[in-house]
Amino acid sequence: MRVAFLGLGIMGRPMAANLVKAGHEVTVWNRTPGKVVEGARSASSPAEAATGAEVVWMSVSDTNAVESVLFGSQGVEQSLAEGMTIVDSSTISPSATRKFAERVRSRGVHYVDAPVTGSKVGSESGTLIFIVGGDEAVIETLKPLFAAMGKQFFRMGETGKGQAAKLAMNLQIAIIYEGFAEALTLATKLGVDAETMLPLIQASMVRSGVVDYKAPFVLKRDFSPNFPLRLMHKDIHLALDAAKEARVKLPALETVEEIYEVASEDGYENLDYAATLTLLEKWAGVEVKGVSA
Ligand code: NAP
Repeated sequence: MRVAFLGLGIMGRPMAANLVKAGHEVTVWNRTPGKVVEGARSASSPAEAATGAEVVWMSVSDTNAVESVLFGSQGVEQSLAEGMTIVDSSTISPSATRKFAERVRSRGVHYVDAPVTGSKVGSESGTLIFIVGGDEAVIETLKPLFAAMGKQFFRMGETGKGQAAKLAMNLQIAIIYEGFAEALTLATKLGVDAETMLPLIQASMVRSGVVDYKAPFVLKRDFSPNFPLRLMHKDIHLALDAAKEARVKLPALETVEEIYEVASEDGYENLDYAATLTLLEKWAGVEVKGVSA
């Protein structure tokens, strides 16, 4: 298929590379020039990338970024053609998603929200899980593209519901990780180190995908960004905003948000969200020791 891929960040670049590898005709664009994907053509604007594309796929930071890529000067809107499909793999607001979809629908363009879970490792290995909202028949046409970049996709309902489900997923990741980090901090303070705790965690019902993914990084004290703290913080805000709109109270997430607020003030935005552990350590006056510590 002819695909325009917009946004070559931690997630987008490997996704575009996997589309090329699967034999699709890919044109890429990134706001900051200089990022390229081998085997793909590079365009100088979203409008240029989208010209002649059957599918326009986005992976950018947030709601404002999607709005500007679609509707800003030299945005995708200038190149919309009837029958085209826009797919958004960024994590953004469900209500803004519905508005964007409405605006392009009047031009005969389909809109599918397909945020992902699987992080950097999933993107690089082509094993992402897509959390999808949109028309069933349109989603059917995207199957070869989902297969090139991921291992599974789940349709959650109409447009906007992929984003809604994604926020509900990241809410859990943020809270589960903070539970893990608090547990390691307390155990360390009470004299049980992380390497002694981990086999117990993994053998019990406490085990989780979040712990499986994060424990090796924590043990190595590698807080380089797989999922930057600033983006998880953005998702926490999106979930709290959606909760407010729907009149839902999320007390645990509100508390986690306060930790992220302090972490951001302390300059952790570009580290992985796992770095929130170091705040807990600072407050407790301990360091969770890992293999190389
Ligand atoms: P990233 O590495 O920070 O990349 C962000 C991308 O968005 C870059 O290409 C950046 O362009 C572009 N961008 C930012 N603001 C823009 C704007 N105003 N206009 C146009 N482009 C703009 O982020 P990422 O980790 O790839 O994440 C991308 C999306 O996937 C986010 O919504 C994130 O929440 C979601 N996500 C990430 C993960 C993860 O583990 N990393 C997992 C699941 C979902 P520049 O190069 O010019 O800055």
